[in-house]
Amino acid sequence: MTILERFKKYIAFDTVSDENSLTYPSTSTQIEFGKMLVKDLKDLGVEEAYQDENHVVYAFIDNKKSKTIGLIAHMDTAPTIAGGIKNPRLIEKYDGSDIKLNVTYIMKVEDFPVLKTVIGDDLLVTDGEHLLGGDDKAGVAIIFEFLTYYLSHKSEFNYNLAISFTADEEIGRGASKFDVKKMKADLAYTLDGESIYEANFENFNAASAKVTIEGVGVHPGNAKGIMINSVLLGTEFNNLLPKDMIPSKTEDHEGFIHLDEFHGDVEKTTLSYILRDHDKNLLEEKKEMLRSAKNKILAKYPKAKINLEIKDEYRNMRDYFINHMDAINLINKAYINLRLPINYTPIRGGTDGATITYMGLPCPNLGTGDFNPHGRFEFVSVTQMTKMVEILKELFK
Ligand SMILES: [Zn+2]
Repeated sequence: MTILERFKKYIAFDTVSDENSLTYPSTSTQIEFGKMLVKDLKDLGVEEAYQDENHVVYAFIDNKKSKTIGLIAHMDTAPTIAGGIKNPRLIEKYDGSDIKLNVTYIMKVEDFPVLKTVIGDDLLVTDGEHLLGGDDKAGVAIIFEFLTYYLSHKSEFNYNLAISFTADEEIGRGASKFDVKKMKADLAYTLDGESIYEANFENFNAASAKVTIEGVGVHPGNAKGIMINSVLLGTEFNNLLPKDMIPSKTEDHEGFIHLDEFHGDVEKTTLSYILRDHDKNLLEEKKEMLRSAKNKILAKYPKAKINLEIKDEYRNMRDYFINHMDAINLINKAYINLRLPINYTPIRGGTDGATITYMGLPCPNLGTGDFNPHGRFEFVSVTQMTKMVEILKELFK
């Protein structure tokens, strides 16, 4: 089975996750898909392969080495449009022109300049009505292709191989049931990025904040000097924050304070924020800005009540890696040996790898050749997927 055949088999299986579900995994299709992956692992000759009680898949291939590298991909796809695509289209040796997905949708180079980086590659595109599901089944297929080679060339490799397929990454619950002990690895990589010439060991530090403002409600006709309209205080509170420190005006390493929800009436208003920054000190500064806004409002309206609740969410794994470079050094060595460029880009979000890193298993993220994820314009470069397998071979040497 070629990597393309395997990839098509996996993306035909609909495993969209569901953020409204209370179960783990959030959709039963992920359980079925995991079962199929365990069978595929066993069919390749992997004896130690199973789904645990949480339906996370683990496999271990002993190569009688002292160290083990783990490879991780997630089984679910994003709940944006329909998954389970049956008729993706292969474009051989892409010539750099606009790509017609169907009668309605054209993927224009002008809108998606990333297409210029894959000229000459074999691409797999959608039918315009589905996700491709390369996020993260490109990762799953790459791991299988590498595994197939690994099993028949064990003497070439200096590390044992551990594998895990996780669930519900797209709804932020991916690492919640991941068990570092079952993985039995010294370091690991998630294969869950875009270009294979980019890797990530940096993500946001994240916190959330909820502001609750209580005003004083009376009949508007007799309100002079008495009414305190909490909606207006909420607006005033938000206006005290830096107006350009928001997602639509920040990029790269710039953090933000994002007003995510605003609900209110005269008596009670709530504002929900998310705070993000790659630098943990700058995240602390952002928390301080909220505290200071609260104090200013209270000083001006002593009869109002304001409650500010700040919660930490996840941390930037870079703070771990600056003192533990092994996993990064292996990436550098592999790319240098293959004379390929590698760029480390900051993730403007969270990643399972960050959570797993702080569970004690260092876990940077590698690319898979999947582009424009989470929508109908998603495509993979089959050429990059194949090259990633070669990079893994080098990495395990
Ligand atoms: Zn993903």
